[in-house]
Amino acid sequence: MAFDQPLDSISPSVATAIDRERDRQESTLGMIASENHVSEAVLEAQGSALTNKYAEGYPGGRYYGGCQHVDTVEEDAIESAKALFGADHVNVQPHSGTQANMSVYFAVLEPADSILSLSLSHGGHLSHGHSVNFSGQLYDVDQYEVDPDTGYIDYDDLERQARETDPELIVSGSSAYPREFEYERIAEIADAVDALHLADIAHVTGLVAAGVHASPVEHAEFVTGSTHKTIRAGRGGIVMCDEEFADDIDSAVFPGAQGGPLMHNVAGKAVGFAEARTDAFDEYAEQVVANAKRLADVFVERGLSLVSDGTDKHLLLVDLRDSHPDLTGKQAESLLSDAGIIVNKNTVPGETRSPMVTSGIRVGTPALTTRGLEEAEMETVADCIVDVLDAPDDEGVTDRVASQVDELCTAYPIYE
Ligand SMILES: *Cc1c(COP(=O)(O)O)cnc(C)c1O
Repeated sequence: MAFDQPLDSISPSVATAIDRERDRQESTLGMIASENHVSEAVLEAQGSALTNKYAEGYPGGRYYGGCQHVDTVEEDAIESAKALFGADHVNVQPHSGTQANMSVYFAVLEPADSILSLSLSHGGHLSHGHSVNFSGQLYDVDQYEVDPDTGYIDYDDLERQARETDPELIVSGSSAYPREFEYERIAEIADAVDALHLADIAHVTGLVAAGVHASPVEHAEFVTGSTHKTIRAGRGGIVMCDEEFADDIDSAVFPGAQGGPLMHNVAGKAVGFAEARTDAFDEYAEQVVANAKRLADVFVERGLSLVSDGTDKHLLLVDLRDSHPDLTGKQAESLLSDAGIIVNKNTVPGETRSPMVTSGIRVGTPALTTRGLEEAEMETVADCIVDVLDAPDDEGVTDRVASQVDELCTAYPIYE
């Protein structure tokens, strides 16, 4: 039995990779908008013996014995989610945001039914009907876009498109749209064409929970989210709905889309949601947005173009084509990475380069805010980013920025 052997003797390569990944996170500025750092408490819940337990079904109605303790965990997660979001019904079992969306589609659509969603290259998500994803293969998908001049969704155009395509489901929500959605307006459009409304708040789950981003719960039959982006509850998904759809959603998650729930992840959600119910989390979420706005201000002062000219939330989308026409998103990502600033290349509305190259970068503040960085530090970070982009061939600049990054990382550790 290898049960009593330490990780580093069973698998030195995994042990080393885990240590190095932790060091990498500590020693770089993580600005990928979809990433964050969970607490030690969430790590502990996720790395627990709950991973051993099968719990197909729901609390009080499982297909396996011995579920009394995992029932408590799942009930806690559900209760906290209801308190955070004010939803009638919550299912905390989706393994990911994509599977949360899958469960909504399975609950209310038949194959070949039609979906109207935001295009991927304008900020949407693969699971909203992209051809490489099951959603694009099973359903008939039409997509709306942002106005190329303003970077904002044109709701009149969305309404016109909805009337034209008569979808069964309208999907709001995005991965790279820096503005709040007008959920009420989308609900009116959905009503007008007799469609249901799915609001996918994956990126803004924490901001909605804290009340710093509008909540779609009153304006959508279904709300799906991630639990690891702006809320720090470990990887996973969540789906909320009106009571009338509760049974359909539950059976669409299990057995429709998934088998047994990952109870260690459900425990992570329970712990992360409990943390999100504190005043400290509300302050955190406000700071996330304040930090993003400050970052945006400095970027604009220093001549960068931002899609929609700014942000309402935790992320910015920099369109490099005006300020740095020769620099691709891919190059920018790599240059910044050399200096210890981790962002991702991203397509921008009206993109002219391939998705593997792109003309933009997406920059987010959730993880840095978790470390404790505030507006003053965001100014430093913003200057560092623009300095690197302005001098792509100057190693002196990269080195100087790298040492500023080091100083910030040392001053604001993640795990003490
Ligand atoms: C991140 C994201 C998801 C979920 O992604 P997973 O990786 O499957 O958890 C879903 N929708 C949107 C809009 C997202 O940004």
